[in-house]
Amino acid sequence: MTPLGEELIRLIQQEGPISVERYMGMALGDPRYGYYMTRDPFGTKGDFTTAPEISQMFGEILGLWCADLWIRMGCPTELSLVELGPGRGTLMQDALRAMKRIKGLYETMSITLVEISPVLRQAQSLALAPFGLPVAWQSEITALPQKPTLVIANEFFDALPVRQFQRASGKWHERLIGLDHHNALSFGLAGEAESSALPDAPEGTILERCPIGEHLMAELSRHIARFGGAGVAIDYGHTQSGFGETLQALKSHTFVDPLKDPGKADLTIHVDFERLAASAHAQGTLISGPMAQADFLEALGIKERALLLKKSATPDQAASIEAGLTRLTDRSPKGMGSLFKVLSFRHADCPQPAGFV
Ligand code: SAH
Repeated sequence: MTPLGEELIRLIQQEGPISVERYMGMALGDPRYGYYMTRDPFGTKGDFTTAPEISQMFGEILGLWCADLWIRMGCPTELSLVELGPGRGTLMQDALRAMKRIKGLYETMSITLVEISPVLRQAQSLALAPFGLPVAWQSEITALPQKPTLVIANEFFDALPVRQFQRASGKWHERLIGLDHHNALSFGLAGEAESSALPDAPEGTILERCPIGEHLMAELSRHIARFGGAGVAIDYGHTQSGFGETLQALKSHTFVDPLKDPGKADLTIHVDFERLAASAHAQGTLISGPMAQADFLEALGIKERALLLKKSATPDQAASIEAGLTRLTDRSPKGMGSLFKVLSFRHADCPQPAGFV
C-alpha cells in the first residue's frame, strides 16, 4: 500500500467511510502524497500523454484561436489570459509563440495559471520565462484579474473530484470508500441520498456528478459575463448526460484499479459536457459546442499547419508531425479526435469563436 493509502485507511478507521469525491481529491491533491503534487506525470516515461505533449500544433492553434477573438473583440487594451491546469506549460508556450506574431496583442497580455501542483508550477515557470510576460499563479480561481479574459482548459475538468451514486432498493445511495475485512480499501454505499435532483434509473445503475467542476465553470462564466471575453474547455467526455461509472486510474499508460495505489496513479473521469454547459449558461454566457476535437482542429486549419511545418522539416520530423496530426484528429471510436470534445462559453458581446460550426 502507498503512504497515502495507509493514511486513508487510518482516516477511515477513525471517521468511517469517505465519499469518492474526497478520495479522488486526496489521491490527486493531498499536499504531501497527492498524485499531481509530487511528480511530472506526462509523456512516454510518465503515465499519460496529452494533446499539447503530442504536437506543438495543438497549442499554436489555441493561441491563434485566442488572437482571433481578441481582434474580433475590438483589440481590448488589457487582456487576461488564464489557463487551468497547465501541466508542463507546453500548451501555453506554443500558444504564446503563435500569439507573438499578432501585432499589438503581446503588450496587452498578462497570464494567470491555475495550478495546485508545486512541481508543475516550477515546470511552467521555466517554460514561460523566455516570453517575458507577467505570470501569476493561483490554486483556485478566486480572484482572476478584472479585465477581458480568455480562458483555456485542456484536460483539466477530468481531474476534478466526482461524486458517485448507485441505485439500490429503488433509491439512490452515495458510493463510499471504506474498508473490507482484510482492511483494504473497498467500495460501499451510504444510506439513502438526498435525491430529488437525480433521475430515476434501474437497480444497480451508477450515476456521477461533479459539483466541483460545475461550480468552477459557473464561477468562470460569471467572471466572463462581467468582464468580457470567452473560454474554451477541451476534455475526454460525453456531450449528453448519462449513467454509468467513468472513474478510471492510469499508471504507465495502463488502466489500474482506482483503489489500488492512491497517490501513485492518475485518476480521471469523463466530463459531462451537458451539465458543464448548463452551469456556464445559467451564469449568463453564450455557449458553442460541445463538438468533436477533430472537427474543431480541422476547422481551425490543423491540416494546413501540418503541411506548412513539414515544408521545413527533416524526414523524421515530417513523420512525427504527420503522426501528431493523425492522433489528434483520429475519428475512430477510441480516437482522440472523437472522444475529446470542445466547449466554449462567451460574453454576450463577444463574437462566436472560430472553429465552431
Ligand atoms: N493541460 C495540461 C495538463 C493536464 S493534466 C495538458 O494538456 O498537458 C491536469 C492539470 O491540472 C495538471 O497541471 C494538474 O496539476 C492540474 N490540476 C489538477 N487538479 C487541479 C485542481 N483541483 N486545481 C488546479 N489545478 C489542478
